This record gives sequence, C-alpha cells and structure tokens, in this order.
Amino acid sequence: MHPFQAYCQDALARMKAEGRYRTFAELVKSRRGFPRYTTPEGREVVVWSSNDYLGLGGSDILARAAQEAIEEHGVGSGGTRNISGNTPFHTALERELAALHQKPAALVFTSGYVANQAALGTILASMDGNWQVFSDEKNHNSMIVGMKGARKAIWRHNDAAHLDALLSAADPAVSKLVAFESVYSMDGDIAPIAEIIAVAKRHGALTYLDEVHAVGMYGPHGAGVAERDGVLDGIDIVQGTLGKAFGCHGGYVAGDAAVIDWLRSAAAGFIFTTSMPPAIAAAALASVRHVRGAHDLRARHAERAARLKSAFREAGVAILPSTSHIVPVPVGEAALCREVSRRLFDAHGIYATPINYPTVPRGTERLRFTPTPLHGDAEMDQAVAAVAQVLRDVRGVAAA
Ligand code: PMP
Repeated sequence: MHPFQAYCQDALARMKAEGRYRTFAELVKSRRGFPRYTTPEGREVVVWSSNDYLGLGGSDILARAAQEAIEEHGVGSGGTRNISGNTPFHTALERELAALHQKPAALVFTSGYVANQAALGTILASMDGNWQVFSDEKNHNSMIVGMKGARKAIWRHNDAAHLDALLSAADPAVSKLVAFESVYSMDGDIAPIAEIIAVAKRHGALTYLDEVHAVGMYGPHGAGVAERDGVLDGIDIVQGTLGKAFGCHGGYVAGDAAVIDWLRSAAAGFIFTTSMPPAIAAAALASVRHVRGAHDLRARHAERAARLKSAFREAGVAILPSTSHIVPVPVGEAALCREVSRRLFDAHGIYATPINYPTVPRGTERLRFTPTPLHGDAEMDQAVAAVAQVLRDVRGVAAA
C-alpha cells in the first residue's frame, strides 16, 4: 500500500470517529414538488437546507429557457469563451448582470467559487503583487483561496473600527483591497456595508463584496444588500452566484469596465476552462430578468424567514441572532448535530443537514434552515415542533 493510501484510511477513520465524515443523501428532486424531495425508497421529505432560496430551480421560466436553448444549440458549449465557447446567451447574461448591479460590466465564471478564486487571485497578483488585502475573518473559503500568497490582514468579523485600525497601520505605498461578504451564510448576519465602504474609501482602498447569499433576495431589484442599503456605488467589485437564489448555476463579478475587461484577458480561471453551457446561460438570463421584477417573491421570502424565526422562538428553540433569511439552530457538537439531523430525517421527514467543522468552528455545529417562498405554514409548524422534540430528546439523553 502506498503511504498516501494509508494516510487516507487513517484520516477517514478519524473523521468517522469525530462525526465529521460526510455522507450525501440520495434524494430525488422533482421539478414541481419543491420543497419536497423523495428518498430512493419513495418516502417524501421536506427540504430545509436548500440554497435554491427562492425555489426557482424548478420554475417554468428557467426550464423553458434551458429546454429551448438545448433544442436549438445542444448541451455543451464546445470550448472556452475565447475558443468557440462564446454565445449570445453569455454576453447577454453579462450585460444583464452589469445592469442589475448598476455597473458598467460583468464577467461570468463557471461557479461563484471560481469567480472569487480567479478574480481575487488575479487582482492580487497584478501590479507586481504590490497589494495588501484586508479580509473579514469569516470570509468564505473561495475568497481565502483567492487571497493565498498575498499580503493579508484579517479584521474581526463585521468590525469596521478594527478594519480602520488595520488600514491605518498599513504601508501607505501599498494598494489596498477590502474583501468581505454581505450575508454570512452560516450565522445569517449582515455586514455594515456603508460603514465598511466609508472606512475603505478614507484609506483609498478598493472594495470587493461577495453577495452570493444576498443576490436575488435583497434590494428593490434583487441586486443584494448593497442595493438595499443604497450603497452600490461604493462597491468597486461585486461578486455573486447564479446557483442560489437565481436557481441556476454559475458565478460572476461586476464592476469598472477596464477592471472587468482586464480580468477577461488575465484571469486563468476564466480563460482556461470550458464556458458555461449555453442552456445554463439562457436559463440564468431568464432568471435574472425575472427576479429583477419579482418584488412579491422577495416579500414572501422575507415573510417566510421572519415567520420561521418567530415560530422557533415561540417553541423555545434557540436560534442564532440572524438578521437575514438564514435561520441557524445551534446544536454544538458534531456527533450530536448529526444525530439530530438523522432523527429529523428518519422520524419526521425533515431534511436539515448538519453544518460541521471546518465549515463552522468546532463546538458551534448547527442545523441551518433556509425557508423559501414555497414552504407553507403547515410544513413550517411541523418542522419547528419536530426540532423542539428531537432537541429535547437528545439533550435529555446527553444529560442523563
Ligand atoms: N461565496 C460564498 C460566501 C459561498 O457561500 C459560496 C458557496 N456556497 C460561494 C461563494 C461559491 O458559490 P458557488 O456555489 O456558485 O460556487
């Protein structure tokens, strides 16, 4: 056996012992049945952990756009954007995303992860690396990977005063980039964007904002929290996904025309990979166009989240102090969290995945509920009652 095989076996055994081993439920998603999925044995479960935040993944609007594009243009794009993989859907999607964020230009990547990694990595390697990046301590892995190798200062989560102090201490000759998120997906808290912009601008820093968990849902047109807060102008580069509220797939950045045009010709993660399938670009385009005007859907989504939070509170179930649509229920230990999730699934038909280390720090393991406009009152009340009961049961056993 090669030592690496032995290493993998040991690592897997350790993960299993700590309850961190990842298993993927095999669930059949029916287009019209969301948020209900079916197990391979034919049992129905209600999904509470989907990032299809607005429930658009199964909508006729997206499906029709994708079907028509597949019928006309086939499935694969056939190349990189540069080499025969560009279609009118790709360029129209980029124009639409630029308009959504009120920026001159946008660039589409094959995922939000790649967008962050490629855009940040390419920016921070430019100008002979004469950069310092200022990163919120809870930034997503895709941003952290994009910042690898760059000179970096980490500011305390959502703490604009700490950011200010770090920027004040920085070398005046270095170019500065402030990188952060709007909605943080594991706690559901929201960055004080206006304050952060004010601090960044005072120090001449560029701002890079990941709105992956906000686009589609916040702001009058769904451009995210920066739009909601009226500060789109203060964000130099906004990054988003098409894979969550837009119900599709892909990622993007939007910003200054020269910056985006330069990324198009400089970002390896954009250049050297097969472009997004035309039908996905067509579906994403239809989705963004639809979501920009979907005011009722956004209102319903916010109402569902507020109702779920108050239902948990009324049932005596503690939740983290989220100010967004994300409703985290802390459990506090990997094995226990898995057990709660398993009982909810097996006994109550509730699919709420455990969020474990390294996604969240050890000891803060949680279930993360993401109500969508398609979750009804009855489903919500059943879920809350089940969570309250299962938590009582496992904590009773743990305390005994
Ligand atoms: N940024 C954040 C904050 C994320 O949580 C994620 C993934 N969940 C991404 C970027 C990556 O987006 P995508 O899923 O489109 O790759």
